[in-house]
Amino acid sequence: MNKAFFADANSDYKNTRYVICGVPFDCTSCFRLGSRYAPQEMRNNSYNFETYSYLFDIDLLDVPIHDAGDLEVAQNIDDTLDMISVHADNYVEDGKIPVMLGGEHSLTLPFIRACKKKYPDLTCIVLDAHLDLRQEYEGEKNSHACISRHIIEDVTGKYASIGIRSGTREEFEYVKAGGIKMFTSEDVILTGIESVVNELRDYIRGPVYLSIDMDAIDPAYAPALGTPEPYGITPRDVRAVIACLAPYIVGFDLVEIAPEYDSGGTALLGAKLVRDFIAASAKAALRVSE
Ligand code: MN
Ligand code: MN
Repeated sequence: MNKAFFADANSDYKNTRYVICGVPFDCTSCFRLGSRYAPQEMRNNSYNFETYSYLFDIDLLDVPIHDAGDLEVAQNIDDTLDMISVHADNYVEDGKIPVMLGGEHSLTLPFIRACKKKYPDLTCIVLDAHLDLRQEYEGEKNSHACISRHIIEDVTGKYASIGIRSGTREEFEYVKAGGIKMFTSEDVILTGIESVVNELRDYIRGPVYLSIDMDAIDPAYAPALGTPEPYGITPRDVRAVIACLAPYIVGFDLVEIAPEYDSGGTALLGAKLVRDFIAASAKAALRVSE
């Protein structure tokens, strides 16, 4: 049965700190379509879990979470981005932390833009198998394959990516020429996520936007993806990044799950990572107020 709200999202908008919203759009996806179904599948799977997180020692029932439902989308990406940006701007201006459930990766742009307007020294951290640094893809400037290029050139140069293992020669040359901070999946596996996380902690100064393209994770753990890429990082690596950055995160998204390609495990893992982010962030806020 389809659940109307993400589990434990019991707060009204006015009193909430976290606004979950789905964006059911996947029209620029190039390999497997279907990420439009991911927000609902993550909602359905979110009911599998206990409200209490032993790891972060917090009960999500004590955290003000609001699920705004799925945002309205258009037939094409450009109109969709315009429509979403109105909501993204409102959430951030109202002092909320947006938690966007995609949908394809291009949908990150209005949310990171909204955060940059409010937090000028914003750092963006992207978890992804792919560099997403193309200028355009299949004639589309706002393709999912271009999102990191837009972030770096149009929003913030304070940027790092983790889990990378795919891109064109030109994209890797762009990284080198621009001195862009990148941790490949090999880096994570060879040095361990702790060393990556420590380096990140030194790099970021102030607010962070965290965008998780689910294909950063190895397809053995997360097979239902728009563009699966072997030799990835593990769910625990992703959780370590979330736990480290949580105190700084002002905007969060999780994108690119195509739930039709497995029996629910990838959406389940996506829902868990969303819950872990909220638990870690709420715990960090609690520590500050104590
Ligand atoms: Mn990707
Ligand atoms: Mn991506």
